[in-house]
Amino acid sequence: MTRLRQNLIDLMLIPGLSGHEARVAAAIRARLPAGLPTRIDRLGNLIATIPGNPDAPSVMLFTHMDQLGFIVRKVEPDGLIRVERLGGVAERALAAQAVLLCTPHGDIPGIIQTKAHHSTTPDEKYKVLPTPDLRIDTGHGSKAAVEAAGIRIGTPVVLRPQVVELAGNRIAGTAVDDRAGCATLIEVAERLTANAGPTVHLVWSVLEEFNLRGAVVAAQNLHPDIALQIDLMLATDTPDMADRGEMTLGGGPGISLYSFHGRGTLNGVIPHPALVRLFEDTATAQGIPLQRSAQTGVLTDLSYVQLLGDGVAALDIGFPMRHSHSALECCDTGDLQALAALILSVLAAITPGFSLSREV
Ligand SMILES: [Zn+2]
Repeated sequence: MTRLRQNLIDLMLIPGLSGHEARVAAAIRARLPAGLPTRIDRLGNLIATIPGNPDAPSVMLFTHMDQLGFIVRKVEPDGLIRVERLGGVAERALAAQAVLLCTPHGDIPGIIQTKAHHSTTPDEKYKVLPTPDLRIDTGHGSKAAVEAAGIRIGTPVVLRPQVVELAGNRIAGTAVDDRAGCATLIEVAERLTANAGPTVHLVWSVLEEFNLRGAVVAAQNLHPDIALQIDLMLATDTPDMADRGEMTLGGGPGISLYSFHGRGTLNGVIPHPALVRLFEDTATAQGIPLQRSAQTGVLTDLSYVQLLGDGVAALDIGFPMRHSHSALECCDTGDLQALAALILSVLAAITPGFSLSREV
């Protein structure tokens, strides 16, 4: 098994709800090259800087460690647990899923209840329950027993970590978004230690699924000229997604030409043209297929990073993924390997002469 694939599987199995990423950060740190200095800022971002040519524009390459899930809101007298959603939970894919409640005394398994099929009315059969209506059963049977186990209001809950290794290079399971990005960035760190290119800040960020602002704290500290964000790209090669684009799972890494989310947030990224050109030219030169994405309804933390200081040249890059925000997100490790290779070639091409000028 390749190092990248093993790192992905290992990281998918570590719970790390937004705001509770410390175990993921520790696992990533342990997998970074020995001798690479790292630090963790007050918000929880894990940062490693690899110094390069100070005359070349500096790069922040980042990817988020956190995953979506729930927070305990109330424990009922009968021991059933009620939760608030944290992040864009796919409620349609929640019934009868297993979860993990992360307490100071250890991780406790639970199940999301679903009404017995034999008793559902025709109306109920096609109805999705919103998160506030869900009940989680840990088997304890009473509020006192649940609390004695360490579960309280505020306890983080994630979908039970799982990995399903499909045929070929495909891996499905929890938190492929964005442990696949985390594993890709570890791979870049492994191969970038002797750096003749620009100064590169590697950041494994926090709070992306919560408020999209964890990476902002790292960026306003690091003052990068360029920010490249690694996350999923919506794969559109299934019948239900066919109208949304041309992104094929296993078809190689992708870049986003447009993202926008208008529901309350009003943000997105229209990438810097020099970075688009750089990725396209490098991919062509290296013989790496490069896919394109343009989506509304998609938003990453890069949207906020780009607005810092005098402006940061920004580009979302990533890997095709299916079934986003479900317990069986699916990616292809071949895409991740190609993405890591592309990033390394791109970084080598960022020289002191690389211009970010907007003048034509
Ligand atoms: Zn993500």
